[in-house]
Amino acid sequence: MKAVIFPEPHTMEVVDIDKPQIKKDHEVLLKIKRVGICGSDMHIYHGTNPMATYPRIVGHEVAAEVAATGSDVTNVSVGDHVVVEPIRYCGECFACKNGRPNVCKELSVFGVHEDGGMREFAVMPAKQVHKVNAEIDWDEAVMAEPYTIGAQAAWRGNVQAGQTVFIQGAGPIGITVLKMVKLLGANVIISDIMNERLEFAKENGADHTINPSESDVTAKISEITEGEGANAVIDAVGTPKTFELSVDVASPAGYVVTLGFDKKPSAIAMMQITKKELTIAGSRLQTNQFEKVIDLINTRQLTQNGLVTHKFPLSEVQEALTFVEENPQKVRKAVIEFD
Ligand SMILES: [Zn+2]
Ligand SMILES: [Zn+2]
Repeated sequence: MKAVIFPEPHTMEVVDIDKPQIKKDHEVLLKIKRVGICGSDMHIYHGTNPMATYPRIVGHEVAAEVAATGSDVTNVSVGDHVVVEPIRYCGECFACKNGRPNVCKELSVFGVHEDGGMREFAVMPAKQVHKVNAEIDWDEAVMAEPYTIGAQAAWRGNVQAGQTVFIQGAGPIGITVLKMVKLLGANVIISDIMNERLEFAKENGADHTINPSESDVTAKISEITEGEGANAVIDAVGTPKTFELSVDVASPAGYVVTLGFDKKPSAIAMMQITKKELTIAGSRLQTNQFEKVIDLINTRQLTQNGLVTHKFPLSEVQEALTFVEENPQKVRKAVIEFD
């Protein structure tokens, strides 16, 4: 069978490898149908993801059909359509015991720390797959994992109906956050330096858009919120500056959620946090969000609505990576389509 492998940073090969076999009773064999290309895959390609090791088969946004099941598997059957929950964890550490296995000290992410879904077949523990209604289009199902990222950010930001949420960045992650917080009933302000992205955000429910290269973000947020600030600020850009801005424009008793992995420090005065009693929350991967997201997909409350802009066959994965890289204005989400 074919697999897409990154042998080392900056190189990619489509290779022929043996089809994997179920070895344990709790495992399932998946026939892969769609794999989304994510910003983090591009970082692995460029050698800029500090968590990835090589050689690596990437792909953590995966929709598949169950091709075989081990004898202990009860949650899915052969022929079921499923999506992959990409986290594997120890169950014993402080984070795991506190319901936060997504930050387990032994965390292994499918397609990052271990081989992922960019291959024709994969074997994995049945508890890491979730069934999706078979009528749901594969292009909708493959968006489940990205939506869980948005759902997690909304949860970490304690977003409630009627609140004003400011999302920085209207790329794919910012849009998944937007979709989730709109479903929660929030009033949303979103910013991006690309007007095309802001237009798409409006089509997906954004109430206010700001282009920071054209207007003063702080002043606009103050105007929209009548001086209160945003009750939750979700930073889907993730630079030292956007983090500083998040803290500046958050309302008293507000939440600031970070999604980025920038190592450079931000200059944030303690006074801002104490005076407004802000909660600063990191948001990484997801915890228990798959069930909620799949329910929203199955009931068509959550649809990709133009978020999947490009599809490539497995044989054109190199073209796909190059295209994604060179066309940030055109590509929202590109997916690899398997036969
Ligand atoms: Zn991703
Ligand atoms: Zn753990």
